[in-house]
Amino acid sequence: MEIATITDGEFGENCYVVADNGCLYVIDPGVDYDGIKAAIDKCQLPVKYVFLTHGHYDHTFSVKNFDKSIIYAHADEKGLLNDAAQNLSEFTGTPFSINGINYYSGGRYMIDGIEITHTPGHTAGCVVIKMGNSLFSGDTLFYDTVGRTDLPSGDPKILQKSLKLFDSFDKSLNVYPGHGAPFVLGDAYKINYFLKKNNK
Ligand SMILES: [Zn+2]
Repeated sequence: MEIATITDGEFGENCYVVADNGCLYVIDPGVDYDGIKAAIDKCQLPVKYVFLTHGHYDHTFSVKNFDKSIIYAHADEKGLLNDAAQNLSEFTGTPFSINGINYYSGGRYMIDGIEITHTPGHTAGCVVIKMGNSLFSGDTLFYDTVGRTDLPSGDPKILQKSLKLFDSFDKSLNVYPGHGAPFVLGDAYKINYFLKKNNK
């Protein structure tokens, strides 16, 4: 498995283009579509799925460049994706809403060996995506903190509960967050106040 990281210069969000078994998987197609396209073209492989960890505009800006039939998000994110004010694109000068993509529901969703776990809190339909030894954590978990909870459908109590779900993950997983550098999950447990809080 090979992972290319495309970080937008203005908003700092990470898009990941993952090459695995002859296919590409795009996680959070954000603002820098030129960079995302270059990473895809370099691999010369078909894009099988596009996964959204959540609906905020900086993680979904380039969704419009992909076929809707391969895009997946959690059903609890539908309202936010559909609404330019809630997905915050309204405040960027380029309002957009996302409709007609695929939605799954429930706490855990498996697709082709990829394990998606619902981790609400930053937004209602946030998920983390596990592929092999890599965990794509969106804005749910960063190395030393968590995503903000003061935006539409955010809830600090629910996020704290969602963090409990990380206890069941192998601590050797490499975590690729929605912003910032990757880290080993076990290392975050040593220093991240929000993870430590659950395990006192
Ligand atoms: Zn976000």
